[in-house]
Amino acid sequence: MKIFNTKSGGKEEFIPLKKGVVKMYVCGPTVYDLGHLGHGRSAVCFDVIRKYLLYKGFKVTFVSNYTDIDDKMINRANEEGITVKDLADRIIPEYVRDYEALGIMAPDIAPKATENIAEMVEIIEKLQEKGHTYVLDDGVYFDVKSFPHYGKFSRQNLEDLKMGARVDVNEKKKNPYDFALWKLKKDDFEPSWKSQWGEGRPGWHIECSAMSFRYLGEKFDIHGGGLDLVFPHHECEVAQSLAVFGDKAFAKYWMHNGFINIDNEKMSKSLGNFFTLRDIFEKYDPKVVRFMFLQTHYRNPINFSLDLLEQAKAGLQRLRDFVRTLHVGYEKLPDNIDDVRIIVNAEDYVKTFEQYMDNDFDLSGALGVVFDFVKTINALRSTKKLTKNAIDGVEKFLKNADKVLNVIFEEEKSLHSDTEKLIEERDFARKNKDFKKSDEIRDKLLKKGVVLEDTPNGTIWKKL
Ligand SMILES: [Zn+2]
Repeated sequence: MKIFNTKSGGKEEFIPLKKGVVKMYVCGPTVYDLGHLGHGRSAVCFDVIRKYLLYKGFKVTFVSNYTDIDDKMINRANEEGITVKDLADRIIPEYVRDYEALGIMAPDIAPKATENIAEMVEIIEKLQEKGHTYVLDDGVYFDVKSFPHYGKFSRQNLEDLKMGARVDVNEKKKNPYDFALWKLKKDDFEPSWKSQWGEGRPGWHIECSAMSFRYLGEKFDIHGGGLDLVFPHHECEVAQSLAVFGDKAFAKYWMHNGFINIDNEKMSKSLGNFFTLRDIFEKYDPKVVRFMFLQTHYRNPINFSLDLLEQAKAGLQRLRDFVRTLHVGYEKLPDNIDDVRIIVNAEDYVKTFEQYMDNDFDLSGALGVVFDFVKTINALRSTKKLTKNAIDGVEKFLKNADKVLNVIFEEEKSLHSDTEKLIEERDFARKNKDFKKSDEIRDKLLKKGVVLEDTPNGTIWKKL
């Protein structure tokens, strides 16, 4: 199995630190507002990676944090006249809801930054002992010059960086790219914790160094996040963690998911092309959104548009309709009719599916295999030249693939069983020539957005 490692800039054979076990940490959101498309994409990408590792039989520990203290949190809470904690307590459940709707497994551990302050202070103290910090009037800073590898992780030219560095609030910093480890309290409404440097709060980067260390140890397998986090966030995490725990410490593989653009433009609130997940869920099944994310390789950018969503909706509907009607006409077919037997080897498709996934989680390629298989089976089905075993094999393949995709089989189960029940009732009515009743049932289903189609093989249904 190969993984593209941002650290080396190339694909590497995946060899976990401990055989059969994968420990991964993914940077989570700052919880000051509802999650947007970018959050959804990152979370879905790493969910697929996690699910495929589970599919391969690895024991996976998945940690993803919530940043519940930072400038954005403080500003928003202040605007609303509530505490930072109130804001986090309101927003975190919204993320949980959105991620669940997207079919994302909850992390094994979802630590909040504010619950790990002591661990952060401890790391800052160690950095101080080792001479990597200095103190200014507004806080404690990491001295980038003290860590000779700074910039290597993200392949940055520090001179270029200096030129382009955003004007920082503190002009007293030794270097523009030195970053705050501890920020001293400025205003009364700022949440703060005691430390030897005075009351304050942690900088953003130190959070992930501390929480990954606490929950996964000095060394772990995969660290993930969006491409926008490579610099400065991950560069800074690397500097802190390696400075404290040594050159061999920290994540072995670094994985980053691509950006989302909106109609070829960067998504931003100021451009007015900003979509929260909730905006989109109002009009689209969240699983359609998940399916849209799955169709692009996790490292490539997605150019989001409503057309793209519509295409995903149609594609997913094709898969679901295929599954729903798969057994129609094959329920009572015996397995031993020689003249109609065509062997379909689902195993070949499974192998190709896994080959794509083993190559840096190439899900877009793997989905191609799924659609190919569906196309082949559809062609054979219409000639009625499949055995029941073959049909069962197809279902097994799709169920297996859906352990990773998680879009095909989860569709509103209650709707499914209710509809099947009504179809049975309608069949019974039709057999008894009770067409009034049969029409009533058809209308009832139509009101629920379900259309029926009577085929020579029986009645099938579709969602409008
Ligand atoms: Zn992080």
